Amino acid sequence: MVHQYDVVIVGSGGAGLRAAVEIKPPYTCAVLSKVHPLRSHTGAAQGGVSAALANEEEDSWEWHAFDTVKGSDYLGDQDAIEIMCQDAIRAIIELEHMGMPFSRRNDGKIAQRNFGGHTRPENPSDPNSRRIPVKRACYSADRTGHVMLHTLYENAIKNNVRFFSEFFVTDLLLNQGAVVGVVAIDLMTQEIHVFHAKAVLFATGGYGRIYQVTSNAHAGTGDGFAITYRRGIPLEDMEFVQFHPTGLYKLGILVSEAARGEGGILRNRLGERFMERYAPTVKDLAPRDMVSRAMLMEIREGRGIPAPDGSSYIGLDLTHLPEEVINKKLPEITGFARTYLGVDPVKEWIPVQPTCHYAMGGIPTDNDGRVVIDENNTPIPGFYAAGEAACVSVHGANRLGTNSLLDLIVFGRRAGKAIMEFLNSGAEFIPLPKDAAEWTESQIQWLLSSQNGERVAHIRSDLQKAMMEYAGVFRTEESLQKMASILSELRERYSKVAIDDKGKQFNTDLIEALELRNLLDTAEAVVYGALNRTESRGAHYREDYPKRDDDNWLKHTLLYYRENQAPEIKYKPVRITKYQPMERKY
Ligand SMILES: Cc1cc2nc3c(=O)[nH]c(=O)nc-3n(C[C@H](O)[C@H](O)[C@H](O)COP(=O)(O)OP(=O)(O)OC[C@H]3O[C@@H](n4cnc5c(N)ncnc54)[C@H](O)[C@@H]3O)c2cc1C
Repeated sequence: MVHQYDVVIVGSGGAGLRAAVEIKPPYTCAVLSKVHPLRSHTGAAQGGVSAALANEEEDSWEWHAFDTVKGSDYLGDQDAIEIMCQDAIRAIIELEHMGMPFSRRNDGKIAQRNFGGHTRPENPSDPNSRRIPVKRACYSADRTGHVMLHTLYENAIKNNVRFFSEFFVTDLLLNQGAVVGVVAIDLMTQEIHVFHAKAVLFATGGYGRIYQVTSNAHAGTGDGFAITYRRGIPLEDMEFVQFHPTGLYKLGILVSEAARGEGGILRNRLGERFMERYAPTVKDLAPRDMVSRAMLMEIREGRGIPAPDGSSYIGLDLTHLPEEVINKKLPEITGFARTYLGVDPVKEWIPVQPTCHYAMGGIPTDNDGRVVIDENNTPIPGFYAAGEAACVSVHGANRLGTNSLLDLIVFGRRAGKAIMEFLNSGAEFIPLPKDAAEWTESQIQWLLSSQNGERVAHIRSDLQKAMMEYAGVFRTEESLQKMASILSELRERYSKVAIDDKGKQFNTDLIEALELRNLLDTAEAVVYGALNRTESRGAHYREDYPKRDDDNWLKHTLLYYRENQAPEIKYKPVRITKYQPMERKY
């Protein structure tokens, strides 16, 4: 079946929905999502969305921009960061006007809390004074993403956006050097649908599921990255994978940084507040890359808290906080600790470990969501990306907490506006390529006819375990080489995969097999990006190259897919405005 819409948006998280709200009549817009829109991962975001509203204390967007640049370990593009931090204030008021129920102060203003890496000069009149934490994160208890997603969904419905829920996109269609549509499988019937469009936007979220311990939803299988990559469009900075310090031990379920923003403290076996040693001024509110490494160093040096199975974890101590603060401001995450670990945070430390959380890299775009395909930022007509799937790049080598929800609403909107401009300039439908659905059909046929092969779940779990071990928080040439060779073995095994369910209705066996291919392709980009970058910057930590190396590596990586070979790697410069790289100390 072939559908025609002016705009096709893949992904109904915050980024996809915020873009959809911009598409106005006479233009038609379809949003495709493999899960129900309200089950998108944005709904799981807990802690907050940042903007220098200065409701609690003096603040400015320039301080926010400085923090974001420094947090990015100087890899973020500074013009994009300035746009984001300056626009944040308007974007929050806009959400408020759309109906988002923020938590409030007693005077009725939007409440704000601390978050890692967000600071202000101690003496506001002296920009060079010591930087101390600032309350910049706007929130709705610890369910900020949930209310944001609902608000945007309601606004998209009001705009008559057409939703195709539980449609799994498998392929991107190109013709005459432009993107002209996508191919999708209706999960309910297994029917193949071709969507013909003037503009396609990918807002497909992250890839946390390439790792065993992750905070990401099961849907976070990197589909958008893999589909784009296979079609010859590069991926940018994929080596930068964020591990969030506080995942529930073994489970990876997130305990928001808001817990530390509200005063929570990380402690080792000796009860020490060890972050005092690693980041003396901001301590537990240091950026995530630093805290995750510090926790694993404590464990390596024998100061982790021993678990019955011989492994170790770190304690997140909230016991000194008033019970009322815990129950009122952190109800969701303390509920998780009680439900999943049987730990009551009012009385005991929560066992935590770093968990794979966020993709800094992704599909390269300009500041208006246009996908660019080379070192000169040449756009490919008809293709846009926003949200976690995109790399603008505002997060560089390490994202600050609360800056992702902000990225969604700022750059989702800008992408939507750029699409409107493209349509208004007279964009036409470019014909679909011949046999548009061929690749998808051949994959389905191959999987349905598979017999006596290996299970998807085995290959997937071997990938996830190996990625934790060889391409996690700490990396070396040796570990990454090992991971690259494991990946080729896993690909070989995948070529003989088999599924049991040969039926047509909600065949999750089939979809998981297609997702596994996406996990493997995305993991390849992460591993080769990491192997190539012989320095340590932000979340990418090479034990054999422990220093940041601006002379050779102050540049973005572009990875191009090459069938049955290692990807080809190119570079593009980092855009610097006024923040000169300096040593990153907190
Ligand atoms: C537990 C958790 C807590 C977080 N807390 C915060 C926070 O407090 N503040 C903050 O700033 N950030 C937070 N983040 C990060 C932030 O929530 C995410 O980066 C962001 O929500 C991603 O939004 P998105 O719109 O890009 O994609 P998502 O919300 O992940 O949505 C992706 C969409 O793409 C669709 N999709 C994917 N593949 C396909 C396919 N093949 N076919 C069809 N559809 C597809 C999915 O169905 C979904 O609709 C948190 C993340 C997690 C995991």
